[in-house]
Amino acid sequence: MTERLYYHDASLRTFDAHIVERADDGRRLFLDRSAFYPTSGGQPHDLGTLGGIAVTDVVDDGERVAHVLSAPYQGPDAVHGVIDGARRRDYMQQHTGQHLLSGVCEELFKWPTVSVHFGDAVCTLELGTPAISPAQLRRLEARANTLVTENRAVDVTFEDAADVAPRLRKAPGRTGTLRIVTIAGLDVSACGGTHVRSTGEIGAILLRRVEKIRDNTRVEFLCGDRAVRRARTDFDALSDIAARLSAGVDEVAPLVQALSDDARTMASAHKKLGEEVAGFRARAQWEGTLPDASGVRRLRAAEGMTADELRAFVSACASLPATVSVGAVRATRTIAVSVSADLDANAGTLLKAELQNVGGRGGGSARTAQGTVPTDAQVDVVLDALLGAVVGVV
Ligand SMILES: [Zn+2]
Repeated sequence: MTERLYYHDASLRTFDAHIVERADDGRRLFLDRSAFYPTSGGQPHDLGTLGGIAVTDVVDDGERVAHVLSAPYQGPDAVHGVIDGARRRDYMQQHTGQHLLSGVCEELFKWPTVSVHFGDAVCTLELGTPAISPAQLRRLEARANTLVTENRAVDVTFEDAADVAPRLRKAPGRTGTLRIVTIAGLDVSACGGTHVRSTGEIGAILLRRVEKIRDNTRVEFLCGDRAVRRARTDFDALSDIAARLSAGVDEVAPLVQALSDDARTMASAHKKLGEEVAGFRARAQWEGTLPDASGVRRLRAAEGMTADELRAFVSACASLPATVSVGAVRATRTIAVSVSADLDANAGTLLKAELQNVGGRGGGSARTAQGTVPTDAQVDVVLDALLGAVVGVV
């Protein structure tokens, strides 16, 4: 059994212990006592050194704690341990912040905490509610930060499950002695993790993304130094956008909305003009082309059109009398074809037959169709075949 020093003193950063077992050629050590926190309860393990060798993982192994080292330890049984203080402090802030947020969720909205996750970048809280409104999120964040400034005590006690059960936020999963973490006047939870000593040490609490997950809602949160770093990154990004728009940070949202409305209006005007230009081009080409013996005009689109221009051109041709039109975008080996309604042919069927010969893909309606071919050389083969297709006026 390993005596867990962090149970009684989460601020301990160095300690001395004795090795009781060496496994994996000295890469896995079991000690009589340890301040290293093993991964459990959603909180990641500590990092640091044991006997000067880096600890890469700490595993909860029943009654014992296993310390996994980056290299074999060959030294004496008496070892000195050093915890990575910055990492521990960070997770203590996130973890205690989570207790506080879970307590406020109960206090304000009666939302139970379903699960928690502490990641290197992001921490989340899954709450038993189908939705959270922006106003509720702001209220939750404001209340949590008020409780931080009140600097309430966070105490750890050991109590019997039967005695403490009525006061717990969440029913205990077992009997016997429980480690109880209490935020004064707010929250009582059974927990084996590491916590700061008062809510002031949590620092600022920032709520960010809200996401629906099954019937619950997941809220992303950041505490302390992480919250400040994130707010700094957010502000820098927003300032960068504001500078590009020659606007103030608070003007960005309405300005981006106005710009995207303008862009949508312009795109629709551009599309309309493109269709008009395509109609004039098709008509001019039609008038400059003589019909063949069966009265059909066969038009080839000018080279260099974009996909949108080609699409608009062939659909304009489809509405002219007795016309077959073809064209290609060579860069993407895209081919388009149209057949007027007064001809005895179907554009989609014609194109599919030609594409099948060369292993291409595509399709369309009776009037217009579009597809792609595998090689550059096949573009002209298919264009010529479509342009020369046997069709007649109905
Ligand atoms: Zn805890």
